[in-house]
Order: sequence, then structure tokens, then C-alpha cells
Amino acid sequence: MSAEIERQRIAADIVCVGFGPATAGFLTTLSKQLVNQDGTPAVESAVMPGAPPQVLCYERADDIGFGVSGVVTRARGLRASFPDFDPKNIPMAAPVTEEKVVYLLDPIGASRRSRTLRAADACIRALRGLLPFQDGAVELPWSPPFLHKTGGLVLSMGQFMQWVGAQIQSTGAVQIWPGTPVAEALIEDHRVTGVRLLDQGVDKQGKPGDGFMPGMDIHAALTVVGDGPVGPIGQQLDAQFGLPDGHHTRDWAVGMKFVVDLPADTALKPGTVLHTFGFPEPEIFGFLYVHPDHVASLGIFVPSWFDTPARTAYRYLQHWMQHPYLWRLLKGSKLRSWGAKTLGESGRRGEPHLVGDGFARIGEGSGSTNVLTGSGVDEAWTTGAQLAESVLELLKAKRPFTRQNLEETYLKRRRASWVEAEARVAEKSRDGFQKGVLRGMVGMALAGLTHGRFTLNGEPVPPYKRIPTIEEYYRGRIPEREIQQLRQECAIKGVSLHGALMQRCGWPAIPYDGQLLVSHQDALLLGGKVQAPPGYGDHVVFLYPELCERCGTKICIELCSGQAIAPGEGGVPNFDREKCVHCGACYWNCAQPIPGNPERMNIAFRAGTGGLHSAEN
Ligand SMILES: Cc1cc2nc3c(=O)[nH]c(=O)nc-3n(C[C@H](O)[C@H](O)[C@H](O)COP(=O)(O)OP(=O)(O)OC[C@H]3O[C@@H](n4cnc5c(N)ncnc54)[C@H](O)[C@@H]3O)c2cc1C
Ligand code: SF4
Ligand code: SF4
Repeated sequence: MSAEIERQRIAADIVCVGFGPATAGFLTTLSKQLVNQDGTPAVESAVMPGAPPQVLCYERADDIGFGVSGVVTRARGLRASFPDFDPKNIPMAAPVTEEKVVYLLDPIGASRRSRTLRAADACIRALRGLLPFQDGAVELPWSPPFLHKTGGLVLSMGQFMQWVGAQIQSTGAVQIWPGTPVAEALIEDHRVTGVRLLDQGVDKQGKPGDGFMPGMDIHAALTVVGDGPVGPIGQQLDAQFGLPDGHHTRDWAVGMKFVVDLPADTALKPGTVLHTFGFPEPEIFGFLYVHPDHVASLGIFVPSWFDTPARTAYRYLQHWMQHPYLWRLLKGSKLRSWGAKTLGESGRRGEPHLVGDGFARIGEGSGSTNVLTGSGVDEAWTTGAQLAESVLELLKAKRPFTRQNLEETYLKRRRASWVEAEARVAEKSRDGFQKGVLRGMVGMALAGLTHGRFTLNGEPVPPYKRIPTIEEYYRGRIPEREIQQLRQECAIKGVSLHGALMQRCGWPAIPYDGQLLVSHQDALLLGGKVQAPPGYGDHVVFLYPELCERCGTKICIELCSGQAIAPGEGGVPNFDREKCVHCGACYWNCAQPIPGNPERMNIAFRAGTGGLHSAEN
């Protein structure tokens, strides 16, 4: 938006972008220490002398806890912040009681397995009498300790975040504003001076229309960026300041999950945690966590190294649920809530510059997620708490939020903590997956059991270097002429191609039951309750339409978690904001790099409103 627009201006001491677990950890720690017990400020505001610091937090989603997040956690950071924490006070929370890792064989014969894996499957079937084999799956008799969440919690992050939000706001020291996306960071002379909120009353391209309301400028001495793995402010800072030498963000996964009501007579006990691998494709990991009152969260992760142009999480999730090992537990269940979100999985190697003049980064967007232990919430929370302790130290000493001061406080705390020590162990633990699933599993075990001393190599590469075109991928299985015909038929119907291709390769049609096996559209409307308020610009933008015109994979259409990207005229896809769940999958997966930057693809993911309207995930 042009600079001549007059904008309302607010002065604060600290402004936060996003209210995920990282910012919740920050604000929980900060808000408890801003005011003395007698009500006097423990430290003083620079913009409102005599009052405690003015702290504002802006969250994109329409309410606190709307979205998708993790649900099993060791909860070390959470318990440190709430020593008297009692899971009984939070809906859907339960202590972890049982953990299992399960290898799922392919009961259909359609999964894309290597010869080695097929041979391994044949051996397992032959020796089934000697193994803990049940309903086409093997429950591993032993799982490595680094995967364990003993003493941890199964949580609905949505419910937990609502509880934390209420705790923070009850201190009166902090304001949290949901439904308020931050459009950009304000940067002057390499210093972040605050944020600009998103304009309202604009058309799809962001041009002012009737009822135009320019987003306010919030000026603050410190901007805390906790906007997650696809946050536009994090992206802006990466573009402005670059990444540290050798760092990149080429590893990610799309996570898609259901929250379901299990049958009343379910044998699954609250606190049960199941992790699966092997099916529907060897690269896809699954999870099932049991909450109290016959409710479960379940879903899959589709990782960046899954080299197929038909990487549709929704369809794969439905096949995964129907695996006999899981179906015996899920049959008769009913969908309550649904959603999708991507995870930044580059960890320590994806870490941006964590601090600079006037800003600090926390949470997954700061590279905190640990891919070896499968844990993001605890780490995100802890980085936020570490920043809060550092901010209080600087405020008390009346030292400004310069890069150097933040390095001497926040960076120092973070580097000395368990988050850093464990991130170092995990840093290269999944590199083996770049060259195959079995190699990847061995690499993970090696890294975990040797505390990161030994790993298997395999340099992560960006998607355009690894995802073949549809014709290349299906060569030998579907003739090119038939693919062309299917493509035309799907374009006429306005649907994506992956369903037709998967069916052609032996994946059975989904037997919709209107309860658990529902169409993608029903999941959007009933499960995710997806909405988009009018008057905002499109947040998904195809940067160079000419790249789309000649793009052979159109993977953005095939993988879109909300069916929000559909075939468009002249080969440039259409984006429908009203169906977008803000998962960010298109941002990571687009198969064409933009001119001049081989690390960034042809989709911009900007600040936007709407998305999921459920706090159960
Ligand atoms: C399906 C799935 C399952 C998972 N399972 C687990 C698990 O079992 N255990 C575990 O520990 N971790 C799990 N994770 C990972 C975990 O959810 C993340 O690591 C964690 O949520 C990161 O917290 P965060 O605060 O850094 O970011 P986020 O949780 O992504 O929060 C960022 C917040 O910023 C907001 N935001 C973004 N842009 C803007 C903007 N421009 N303006 C205002 N607000 C903005 C977003 O709406 C969001 O609320 C899972 C993730 C997924 C997707
Ligand atoms: S957005 Fe990316 S994946 Fe989609 S058509 Fe354009 S270039 Fe291809
Ligand atoms: S358009 Fe929206 S729902 Fe579709 S992949 Fe992109 S962010 Fe996810």
C-alpha cells in the first residue's frame, strides 16, 4: 500500500506478531512480572510513564486457538511456567499413559514401495507368527527413548491456548487481539520499529474499495515475531536480513488431522499415543492421540522428501484411517474437527537471525522445532519464555532492545538451554531421508542413539529439484495420452487430478459414510468450519503467472489442503480465499523457483484473515 495513505499510529513498548505456543510462553512469563503484588509497575513503560510497559499481541486467526497444532508433548516448558498445572482443568488434556510405534504394511498393494521394502514386508508376513503382528501391522517391541513423551501430556492445543489466553489476559498486563493480521514489519535503517496491520475494505488485489480502512501502524521498542513456519513477518525479515551462512528452510511437512468422537465402547484409553509409518506411502507418518471422553486426534504428516507430484494429504489421510490396524479402532467414529498446517522442519539449520535491532524471533519460525523427537510445542514455548526473561532483564536495567543487548540476554539463554542442545543432536538426523525411507529411519536411529555424533548424509534440496512432472512420475504405469485425457476431464470438472491418477494406480475409491469418511468439501465446512471475512486481499498470490503457464506439475492444485487452488485459465491457477485453511502447503510445495532466488518459489503467502474456525485441534 502506498506511503501517502494516512494511517492511525499507536505507540506501545512491545508488539507481538501471532499468538501460538511461542508467544503464549513469552506473554505468560512476561505478564506475571510486569506488575508488583501491590499493583505498582515492576518496570515502567517508555510510552506511558508511570504505567507498566504497554504490550500488544496481534493474532491473524479469528479467535485464540483457531488452527492446528501439536498434541503430544513432554511439556517441560509448560510445566516450568505452570508448576501447579493440572490437566483436569483443561478440556481434552490427559497425561500420556501408553506409547506405541507401529509399522503398517500395505494391505492394498497400491503403495509405492521400493524392492527392499517389499522384501522386508514379505519377510514380516512369512514370520508373522513369531512377531507382534496384528491386522496387517507390527507393533514395534521397542522404540528409541528419544521418541518417548513419558511424563508428558496429550493436549488439544486449541483448548490449551484458550486457557492460556484467559490466564494472560486476566493479569491485565497484556492485550491480545485476534482477527487482526499483521501485514508487515516497519523497518527504518535496518531497525525494526513496529508493525503495520492489514488493510481492510480492499479488493482481491489489495486495492482500496468502499469502506477502506488502512491498517494501523504500531510503533514499539521491541517487535516479537512468533508467526510460525509460514509467517509473513518472518519471511519479510528473512528477505531483509538474509539467513545465516549455510542455513536454509528446505525441510517441511504438511500435517493434516481429524479430531474424532470414538465409539462409546472404544478400547482406547485416554493418554494413549500411537505413531505409525509405512502406509499409505512409506514416507508418510501417522499419529493417533487419545483425549478423555472418547475423543481422539489423528492425522498424517506428508514430508518434503516425498517425491511425488500427487501429494494430496486429504486423500492419503482417508486411506491411512482405513488401514485394518487403525480401522478396527476407528470404525464407528465421527468427525468433530479437521484442519491442516505445515511444519518448518529444518530445525537448527533453518534458524534465521534470531535477534536484530528492535526485534527477536521465537518459536517454529525461529527454527525451534525438533525433528528427531517430533516436538515443536515445548520448544516454541520455551524460546518464548527465554525471551521474556531476557526482556525483563533489559527493562529492569533500562537497556535498549539492540541487537547486541538481545544477543547478550536472549541468545545467550537460548544457546545454553536444552532447546539448543537437543536441536544440535537433531540437526542432521533426518538427512538420510533424502535418499530413501529405510536409509532415513536408520539415520534417525543413528543420530538419536549416538546423540548426534553419527548421521547419514543427504543434502536437502528444494522441491523443484526433486518433484518430477506427472508424466515422469507415472511413466510405465499410465500412458502419457491417458494422463492428458484425465487432465482434460478433470479441468472440465474443475477438480484436481490426483484422485483420478491414484484410482488409476489401484487406490480404491473412498467409501464415504458421512461420519468419518467425508468428502473434502464436508471436512472444510463441517470439520474446519472454514470462513473468510470479506474486504481483504488474497493472501496466496502466484508471483510470475508465466511460470505457472509452463509449469508441468501444477502441484499447488494437487496438494492444496482446502481445495482452494483450482485449475484456471491459461494455465494460471485460481485461488479461492474462502476455502483456504492457511496451512501454507502451497508456499512450500510450488515447483518453480522465482527468477533471482533459487530458494523461493512462485507462490507468495501473505498476511490474511479467516481460515479454520475450530479450537479443538
Ligand atoms: C498436524 C500437526 C501436528 C503436530 N503435532 C505436534 C505434536 O504432537 N507435538 C508437538 O510438540 N508439536 C506438534 N506439532 C508442531 C507444533 O504445532 C508447532 O511446533 C508449534 O505450534 C509452533 O508454535 P509457534 O508458536 O512457533 O507457531 P504457530 O503455532 O504456528 O503459531 C503462530 C501463530 O501466528 C499467527 N500468525 C501468523 N501470521 C500472522 C500475522 N501476519 N499476523 C498475526 N498473526 C499471525 C498464526 O495464526 C498462529 O496462531 C504439530 C504440528 C502440526 C501441523
Ligand atoms: S504456483 Fe507453482 S506449482 Fe502452481 S502452477 Fe504456478 S508454478 Fe506451478
Ligand atoms: S491455498 Fe490455502 S489451503 Fe491451499 S495449500 Fe495454500 S494455504 Fe493451504
